[in-house]
Amino acid sequence: MNETNNTPQSNNSAAPARKRTRRPFGNKDKANPNADTRTPATPSAPRARAANPNPRGSSQRPGGGRPQRSGGASARPRGRGPQGNRSEGAGGARPARARGGRRPQQRRSDKAPALTHRLGADEAQNHTQIPDITDEDTVRIITVSGVEEIGRNMNIIETKDDIIVVDAGFQFVSAESNAPGINYILPNTQYLEERKDKIRAMVITHGHLDHIGGLPFIMERIGNPPIYTQNLSSLMILKRQEEFPHMEPFKMNVVKEGEHFTVGKTRIKTFAVTHSIPDAMGVSVETKHGDVTVTGDVKLTHLEGKVDEQEAADWINVGKNNNLALLCDSTNAWQPGFSSPESIVLDTFDELVKNATGRLIIGTFASNFERLFALIASCEKYGKKVVLEGRSMKSNIEIAIQAKLLEVKPGTFIQGNDIKDYPVDKIVILSTGAQGEEFAALMRMSTNQHKFITLNERDTILLSSSVIPGNEISVQILKDNLYRRNVKVVTVQSAAIHSTGHGYAGELTWIRQTVNPKFLIPVHGHHFMLKSHYFTAVENGFPKENIVVPDTGTIIEIRNGTDISVLPMTIPNDQLMVDGFTVGTRQEVVLRDRKSLSEDGMFVVIATVNSKTGKLRKSPDIISRGFVYLRENQQLLSEARVLVKRAIEKSTEGQHPIDLEIAKEEVMNELSRFLMQRTSKNPMVIPVLIGI
Ligand SMILES: [Zn+2]
Repeated sequence: MNETNNTPQSNNSAAPARKRTRRPFGNKDKANPNADTRTPATPSAPRARAANPNPRGSSQRPGGGRPQRSGGASARPRGRGPQGNRSEGAGGARPARARGGRRPQQRRSDKAPALTHRLGADEAQNHTQIPDITDEDTVRIITVSGVEEIGRNMNIIETKDDIIVVDAGFQFVSAESNAPGINYILPNTQYLEERKDKIRAMVITHGHLDHIGGLPFIMERIGNPPIYTQNLSSLMILKRQEEFPHMEPFKMNVVKEGEHFTVGKTRIKTFAVTHSIPDAMGVSVETKHGDVTVTGDVKLTHLEGKVDEQEAADWINVGKNNNLALLCDSTNAWQPGFSSPESIVLDTFDELVKNATGRLIIGTFASNFERLFALIASCEKYGKKVVLEGRSMKSNIEIAIQAKLLEVKPGTFIQGNDIKDYPVDKIVILSTGAQGEEFAALMRMSTNQHKFITLNERDTILLSSSVIPGNEISVQILKDNLYRRNVKVVTVQSAAIHSTGHGYAGELTWIRQTVNPKFLIPVHGHHFMLKSHYFTAVENGFPKENIVVPDTGTIIEIRNGTDISVLPMTIPNDQLMVDGFTVGTRQEVVLRDRKSLSEDGMFVVIATVNSKTGKLRKSPDIISRGFVYLRENQQLLSEARVLVKRAIEKSTEGQHPIDLEIAKEEVMNELSRFLMQRTSKNPMVIPVLIGI
């Protein structure tokens, strides 16, 4: 989570503008611990909650997506079998298919020719009725997502007349998401879809994927409202949109920090914030009883706790308004004090660039603009040439130049294939892939598969980012591979080469005290981060009854500017998922089957039954995948065949006419039990009974 940084005014910064940066573009904001607790097909039960730090307790959605039966496929939830059984084989009386005929794994693409939007109509109808706002004195704040997780940030501010949406992130799927095969998890937009006509604006605070990633998938669903954001963010959004040429163009409105604009009856003010990406901004949505202020991702530019003057002035300015509520980043609320300033990182880099005696290869987030700018400036200062490696690195630098955030002297950048024309100590390579992404440039170098760069012991590699939770293994593999090349590896642990883009508790307290809101709503982060934010605020004298720690889909209402409450129901909050070319809520059965198949494999029995007598015409065929190595389990197979025969004939006995559905059920139950007993595995059992 602590990918990046922002840039304090460092004398080696190439960027004239005030800094702000963070989180990887094209990189993963991972983690998603709650994902597996959602049962989308079931509407969430209304969850009453006191307006305060709410221990999540057992507020998980009620479970019980009914196992669906189709084609005899068992969809029961399964316990995990012992792991690591990798043997598999087709077997049985006649292996029906040759092994090895699997299709090579295809890379999934989100470049949809056209995304199919799937929305269960019954889900919409079943959901508890959420009352409309009918008076001028009520303001509603909904934390759609990003409050029990890192990623897919989205918040809604609603008055009687207008809905303003702030951010539309997505979340990459990790192992913990329990969603095999799913590409991304999106905020649930059903509430918005049902109120399309009331949406006046989609305001984007900055260009990180956990704030813009959802746009291509949800904008059409919510009626393509106008987008308001700053220049760099707009360029990043539009660049990404090139991958979705079939979509209606976005109505993009570029605003400058400090400007205000009016949508519907609502005025929205923007202000500059520091983050690890330039053009990050906070927004204040004016309502009758005061502003609802949203920080977006935020940290402070400071020197040993003393906030930069310009920055302080900006915040003091926000504090002059009547701030009704503050929705504030909580990602690093659990860390005490102030985060280390980026200026230290940039000084370290400057030294490293200056002193490098061989090639210097720097793996960092491509969205860490400020750091890239500073590195390029250092290279220019010491007469070194810069090679950009990785698609997102090139495209982000291109965007930065286009946005006039970066000016580069002619001749600074050289192509990868020209490296050989320069002395090794004059080469600095900026590369993506510090998280060990499989296809990123750094991984290719480390495995000697890079077109132009063969690593040797004179090279130095800097891995300049903290490891995003979930990426540990791939980073470990990357490191091993790098060490095999005998290069010198410098990591975050060994030098000050990374700082975070999210303020620590001390910074958050400073922000809150300066903004001086009546109510505080911690957002962005896992529950423990939000709750840490709550504790910090209370410790620093903020009244605890004025804080709401929200969950996914919590509806908060403030009446007359004084009374805050949480409605007993949530908005529909099942996870919306991108599954190949389809966008829809979690299809529990499909995911459970994928998971079950990946753990215990499948076991198919094909039997031909005499439809008059109910007897088997011959011994059943068995096909399995990912279960056990059948060739070594002939005994098991013949017992299974006997069991199947017995189960079918017992079930059809006395039946007129014969109902094979009942027999199928019987086979499934008997066989599952038998296989479990014998192998301690629970494969998906699929009986295919053919009556002749
Ligand atoms: Zn961010």
